[in-house]
Amino acid sequence: MINIHKNIYNNKLFDELKIDCEKCFGLCCLALYFSASDGFPTDKESGKPCINLQSDFKCSVHNNLIKRGFRGCTAYDCFGSGQKVAQITYKGRDWMQSSELANQMSEVFLIMRQLHEMLWYLKEASVLDISDKIKTKIDSIIEETEKITIMTPEQLIDLDITSHRVKVNSLLSQASESVMEKVKSFLKTSNLKSKKKLSKSIDLIGADLRKTNLIGADLKGRLMIAANLKDTDLSGANLIGADLRDCDIRGANLKNSVFLTQLQVNTAKGDSNTKLPASLVHPKHWNK
Ligand code: SF4
Repeated sequence: MINIHKNIYNNKLFDELKIDCEKCFGLCCLALYFSASDGFPTDKESGKPCINLQSDFKCSVHNNLIKRGFRGCTAYDCFGSGQKVAQITYKGRDWMQSSELANQMSEVFLIMRQLHEMLWYLKEASVLDISDKIKTKIDSIIEETEKITIMTPEQLIDLDITSHRVKVNSLLSQASESVMEKVKSFLKTSNLKSKKKLSKSIDLIGADLRKTNLIGADLKGRLMIAANLKDTDLSGANLIGADLRDCDIRGANLKNSVFLTQLQVNTAKGDSNTKLPASLVHPKHWNK
């Protein structure tokens, strides 16, 4: 078995990046641009509240989201940016009485969501088996990103997020390359010859990958909609940006996969036998 983690996986590391709707003002239901074809109730612009959002910021159809086919709503994950914007950036002030504020909060939420997503990946990278040099750089950019997240709404709107993302992406690539070295030496000593080699195609839509070796696979940004990964081992596989919608991950081992997010898990089809990294949870709708 391969272990790609060097540092102790402390769940507290991810605490503030976990969704907490009770402390939010329905910001995802306000700020997201969405369409009915993506599993949301209607087509909607950013800054306009969803028709099902109540004045107490709760969803009037919350218990029936699956039944109604609102898969976009059940899958969405804000990486804890909703409660950050509501409670820290706007100090508990909500948007309900002012359309101007609703627009500004929407803009800030969409920026914060990107920052929190970066923090998620960076924190995950920080516990991987990487060199001390890369770890130091990652710890430093985590600190820098955390400082940005507590800036004022105006400062956040003016932020050059693209430049920041470039720096973050470069470090994430270095971290995953570092882990890949470890995976390669593991593969040399293991007997996986009976497994097929993964194709280099970005398009893995509907592919049956059950007999393919996915240990250490580079699945970055691949389109894996409805692919069959049942009972596969994805240890060391890099899943950053992979589209796992309707992917069959029942019984699959993703415990030691790299850069898997709750959003990806929420959109896939798993079961109680699916093994997930310690930072992620089995979605409730898998049992329905
Ligand atoms: S249906 Fe409910 S969860 Fe989905 S966007 Fe509307 S208010 Fe939010």
